[in-house]
Amino acid sequence: VKIPYPENEPVYSYAPGTKERELLKEAINELKSQKIEIPLIIGGKEVRTGKLAKVVCPHDHGHVLAEYHQAGEKEVKMAIEAALEAWKEWQKFRWEERAAIFLKAAELLAGKYRYILNAATMLSASKNVFQAEIDSACELIDFWRFNTYFMQQIYTDQPPYSPKPTWNYVQHRPLEGFIFAVTPFNFTSIGGNLPTAPAIMGNVVVWKPASTAVYAPYFIMKLLKEAGLPDGVINFIPGPGSVVGNLVLKDPNLAGIHFTGSTEVFQNMWKVVGENIKNYKYYPRIVGETGGKDFVFAHSSADVKKLVTALVRGAYEYQGQKCSAASRAYIPKSLWKDVKELMVEEIKSIKIGNPEDFTNFFNAVIDEAAFENIKSYIDYAKESNEAEIIVGGGCDKSVGYFIEPTLVETTNPKFKLMEEEIFGPVLTVYVYDDDKYEETLELCNSTSPYGLTGAIFGEDRKAVSVALEKLEYAAGNFYVNDKPTGAVVGQQPFGGSRASGTNDKAGSYLNLIRWVTPRTVKENF
Ligand code: GLU
Repeated sequence: VKIPYPENEPVYSYAPGTKERELLKEAINELKSQKIEIPLIIGGKEVRTGKLAKVVCPHDHGHVLAEYHQAGEKEVKMAIEAALEAWKEWQKFRWEERAAIFLKAAELLAGKYRYILNAATMLSASKNVFQAEIDSACELIDFWRFNTYFMQQIYTDQPPYSPKPTWNYVQHRPLEGFIFAVTPFNFTSIGGNLPTAPAIMGNVVVWKPASTAVYAPYFIMKLLKEAGLPDGVINFIPGPGSVVGNLVLKDPNLAGIHFTGSTEVFQNMWKVVGENIKNYKYYPRIVGETGGKDFVFAHSSADVKKLVTALVRGAYEYQGQKCSAASRAYIPKSLWKDVKELMVEEIKSIKIGNPEDFTNFFNAVIDEAAFENIKSYIDYAKESNEAEIIVGGGCDKSVGYFIEPTLVETTNPKFKLMEEEIFGPVLTVYVYDDDKYEETLELCNSTSPYGLTGAIFGEDRKAVSVALEKLEYAAGNFYVNDKPTGAVVGQQPFGGSRASGTNDKAGSYLNLIRWVTPRTVKENF
């Protein structure tokens, strides 16, 4: 074994007086003082289409950070061609050489790129300093270090049995074609991981970031070039989904999809692939992580303080815009009074505002469409006689897209806000009778079509075991006495099943193995 088992990148505090804080502040000021122009990057070359779209700060939408060029049909075709051209060389690289590039990328990000990428994430995605650090620095560094380690594991796997006089071996080759990576706004690390995980395994990629997440990914492209990634291995083509997706998905060389985003878009992509299935040269690998309706379930033996911390952090960190965010909770009657009191106190103390002020825990939601969608759920709860807003509920988009952290209580366990994904800072609580623990677990299991994350709180181990069993398929990432967010690469492989995705755990061997097509060779002596 040549690459040692990696350690997770330490999280910087950016406390007052530290050098890191100064460097980050400098990076923020630098990015704010300029309006950059973001080209497409195809075959290593910058391509400008003149069809420009704006990148603004969600917490200050009057501030334009950048304009980016959008791909049209011509550029999509160019990107596919460039990828296929690069494939010829890239698939010949030894795995150690590919590892060297991505290990260097991790070092660059752990060093000088850390500040610029964190600043870009804070400004363009409205993330507080801690959320940016664990995402665009630590998690992305971890993805690169761990994924190269997992690659090594794959290449050095136990060979198959070879009874004499034969020699059997398996060659893990990259897929024969290109991978389409489609990335979301909510994690810069996912933006970095979806195109690079297949590339680490020797694949070539056409990458379409979400229109709300073009800014930070552009710096990732610069970093990868500096790390030595050959031109054309990853081609960066922001643009409208209708143009890019349609062309890419119908291309006969489509060998795989690596997606994180909405359930609807993913299902639609799958449908297009199905409709075109006869036109491909290969069955495209489809790997996707989509929505969630993640739960926190408390048993009457739960530690109330731990529970409240998990609910507040799980529901409101990054404004509830993590696929893993707690968005429905089941609390026993015996605990509700205490839980409610503490939650109201904690939620009221949350500091809301611009991420440039590092003391603000809570910032804006990503854009106007998200703002309106989340607000419509809050309005629905306000008007319903089955629900009450316990705290929060305020929405103001005059300067930035701000929605207060909101706690809703409902008397109906199948209330719309208990069932549908909101993707914002809204937590809905259903209070159940203590003696209906098992029935309520069953209710929780059958309430939403998703299966991403969930948590059980209880000090009574037997009760915890019952929950683990009754909710067996309700969450791909299941937490006992902890919040349902914040999976760490190498520690909690991440992904969900049911309507939440194909569960090909990000940041694990299980994901990397999807990007190879093995050849078994039998030699007979
Ligand atoms: N891995 C993240 C977490 O555990 C969530 C990723 C997502 O939102 O897609 O919180």
